Amino acid sequence: MEKPIVVANWKMNPQKEEEAIRIAKFSDREGVVICPPFVFLSAVKKEVKKADLGAQNCFFEKQGAFTGETSPVMLKNYSCKYVIIGHSERRELLYEKEDDIKKKIKILLDEKITPIFCVGEDEKSEESLRNQLKVLEDTSLKKIIIAYEPQFAIGTGKSCDIEEAEKKKVFIKSILAKSHEGGEKTIVLYGGSVDSKNALSYIEEAGFDGLLVGGASLKEKEFGRLLKNISL
Ligand code: PEP
Repeated sequence: MEKPIVVANWKMNPQKEEEAIRIAKFSDREGVVICPPFVFLSAVKKEVKKADLGAQNCFFEKQGAFTGETSPVMLKNYSCKYVIIGHSERRELLYEKEDDIKKKIKILLDEKITPIFCVGEDEKSEESLRNQLKVLEDTSLKKIIIAYEPQFAIGTGKSCDIEEAEKKKVFIKSILAKSHEGGEKTIVLYGGSVDSKNALSYIEEAGFDGLLVGGASLKEKEFGRLLKNISL
C-alpha cells in the first residue's frame, strides 16, 4: 500500500504570521499537504522543506478584474501543487455552486495543479453524493483527489462511523468506475473530525488513501501523534 497523504486544512487560522510559521514547522513532513490561508503562503513556503503546499480555494479565471479573488496561476507561482475545491463550508456559507466548482477544477487541471475535490452528503443520502460527483463526468480523473467529508462530521467532533465511511468510499469509487475507465483507482481521502485516535482506522480498516484534517492539524502534539499513528 502507498503511504497515505494528509491534507492539513488550516481554514481561517491562525491570526498571525509567527503562529503560521510555528504550525508549518511542526507539519513539515513528507506526505503532508499544508493548506494555509492565502496571506501566509509566502511565509509557509519559505519554512517547509518536506511537506507540499496547497491552497483552500481559487478563482476560475487566470487574470483580470475579479476583485478579491486569487488565480490558479498565482498559486502555481507560489509552488502550490494542490487546491481544495468545493469544501462544504464554501458550498454552504458562500453558496458555491456545481458550475463554479466545475470551472475551478478545469482551470486547475489546465495549470497542472491537483484539485482536492470535496464531496459529502448532508444527510445519509447517496443521491446527493452522486449529484456532486456529476461535475467530474467529462473530466480526466488522473490528476484529481477526492475528499469524502460527510457534513455532520466536519468540525463537530462527531467523526463518521468507520464502516459507514468505508461504504461511502466504495460507493464513490463505483460511481467513478462507471463514468471513467479505471475510475476506481482515484485517490479518495476521508475528512471530518479526524484525530490521532481514529486516523489509522480510516486508512487501515476503511481503506482510504489518506485524510483531510482540519482542527487537529493546528495542534502540535495532536497532529504529531496523528502523523505518527499512520506512520508518516
Ligand atoms: C475540514 O477541514 O474539512 C475538516 C474535516 O475539519 P475537521 O477535521 O476540523 O472536522
